[in-house]
Formats: sequence, C-alpha cells, structure tokens
Amino acid sequence: MKNHKQNPHFILIGNQILKWYGQNARELPFRNTKNPYNIWICEIIFQQTRIAQGMQHYENFVARFPDVKTLANAHSDEVLLYWKGLGYYSRALNIHKASHQIMNDFGGVFPEKYEDILYLKGIGKYTAAAVSSICFGKQIPAIDGNFYRVLSRIYADDFDISSSQAYKYYENLALEMIPSNAAGDFNQAMMDLGSEVCKPRNPLCSECPVQENCIAFQTGKISEFPVKTKKVKVESLELQYYFVGFQEEFLIKQRGDDFIWKKLFEFPTDIPDDFREFSINEKIVKHKLTHKNLVININRVVLSSKSQLDKFAFDNGFSIINKDNSQQKSFPKPLENYIDGL
Ligand code: SF4
Repeated sequence: MKNHKQNPHFILIGNQILKWYGQNARELPFRNTKNPYNIWICEIIFQQTRIAQGMQHYENFVARFPDVKTLANAHSDEVLLYWKGLGYYSRALNIHKASHQIMNDFGGVFPEKYEDILYLKGIGKYTAAAVSSICFGKQIPAIDGNFYRVLSRIYADDFDISSSQAYKYYENLALEMIPSNAAGDFNQAMMDLGSEVCKPRNPLCSECPVQENCIAFQTGKISEFPVKTKKVKVESLELQYYFVGFQEEFLIKQRGDDFIWKKLFEFPTDIPDDFREFSINEKIVKHKLTHKNLVININRVVLSSKSQLDKFAFDNGFSIINKDNSQQKSFPKPLENYIDGL
C-alpha cells in the first residue's frame, strides 16, 4: 500500500506512540516471533478472547500444530478440541480450512502478499494487515476497535465508526501518522495503547503518551468518541434440546456445517412421544452470541433401560457417551456447562 504525503503533526503523534511502545510493550510470547503462522493463529485467538484467558490455548495449539502442514493433516475434530474453552468455534474451522488453502494454493508456504493473505478463509482486512505488517514489513495499518477508539479521540473525529466507510477512512488517517517502515510496531502499539491505556471506559489519560495532543482529552469530550450510530440488530432465538440418558451415559451428535455452532456436538433436538414420560426436569439457559440472544430449553430425559438408549442412538445416528469421555468432544458453551453441572 502506497503512503501518500504525510502530515508532520500526525507523524509526531505516531512517533510518540511508537516511543511509548518501545518502553511499554507487553511481554507476550508471540512478540518474539515474526513467523506468519504463529502471528496468524494468535491474531485469530486474541481477536475475541482476552490475552490472559487465551494464552494457554495459544501455547497448546502451536505446540500440537506447530506449522501449516501439521494443522492441515489433522482431523477437524481435534482442531476443535484444541479450541475448547475459547468459544466462537467457527474460527478454528476457518483456520483449518485456510491451512488446506495454503497447502493446495501456495505450496504449503504462508503467502506474503496482502491480497493473498486476505483470500484465506476466516482472514479479514485486520488480520491480513497485522500479518503483512508484522511479518513482512508492509506499511499497512490494521484497523480494529482499538484503532477507531484511539484515533477518534486523539483527533476528536466524529466519523461514524459503524459506517461502511469507516475502515477506509481510519486507514487513511493512520497512514498519515505511521513513520516509514514502522507499521508492524505501530499496529502492535495501537493494540497495547487501546487495551491498556485508552480503554473504552475510564481511559488512563495520565499515562498516555499523546495526552498533550489529544483533542478529546484537551476539550474534555472523551466520552463523545468514538461516534457509533448504527446499532447491530440482535435476533432472539429459542432452541430445544433433550438430554437423553440412562445411568452415566447420554446421547450426542455432531452438528452440520451450516448455521451456528458448526461441527460441534449437541444433544437430540427432538424425542419420540413415548420418551416424554421419562422427562424429569427442564432447564432454561440464556446465552448470547454475537448477533443472537439464545434461550435454550434443555429437557432431561432419564430412560428406564439401556436398550432404549441404544435403539434410539442406532436409529437416529447418535453416539453414546459419558461425562468423562465427553471431555474429548467440543460442545457449544451452554451444553458444555450443562454437562459440567451433572
Ligand atoms: S489522552 Fe486519554 S483519551 Fe486521549 S488518547 Fe490518550 S488515553 Fe485516549
């Protein structure tokens, strides 16, 4: 990406941020590498998971799947298992599909070009920019919520971040301030500044390297930025499950590749009428996904014989499992919690 003529005042701010990063960068294991495979995996994990929560998962994931080839050769169930606890499992399935794309379309070598990285399954502009800048030294800003927040406050800029033009707008603004060849460090600096200092609520302005140049701070208008007008539509959805068991065992089946919770395991969603008399209780669980509020009704059905369980499993393609070996399967979070509570 070509850099146009830069604004010296903006460059000064960019340099202040970079200097601050040089002294305050968080010590994170993936900061010691420029291997695009590792950076890609950690970018995907930490987009929706806090660093402290996801660190062990990241370490375990790259220990088991240290490179693209190992990942591509693994079964998707095992990849999902290593994602267990992180949620948003579609990320794991996309990473797995992207590993096949790298093997098939790029000869097993992680692509260097921004457009090629963007072509990989599950990689959006932000991740492609982060990998390109950190691993390949490309001058491309990686714009995310942190970026929007910090820049909109520094410049008291009321450009609506929910607009479809926001990415391009802030990308151009960032290009005005990133010193030459420093996008990799600058993008990471913005990550740290946004999450550690310029937080969504109660930013720590007294620790901020750009306080004296921050218009929102200087004018006392921090809470007005960033501007976001469009509310994301959240849909409500009711789901029905039957936890069908006999003694220690119960029924599960793997979900398909469409809709939510792709490839995860679940309980039956319907039962024959003659099972209903064995229903002993019902639990209602509320769960939020990104754009959906779920209300999940889990009915517990305790059958009176093992043969009933076996026949239902055989006729309907279910597996029979117990709590211990359920640890080897990945379930949607509310169902995992239900099993843990047994
Ligand atoms: S001075 Fe405060 S509001 Fe401005 S960028 Fe720094 S932390 Fe954010």
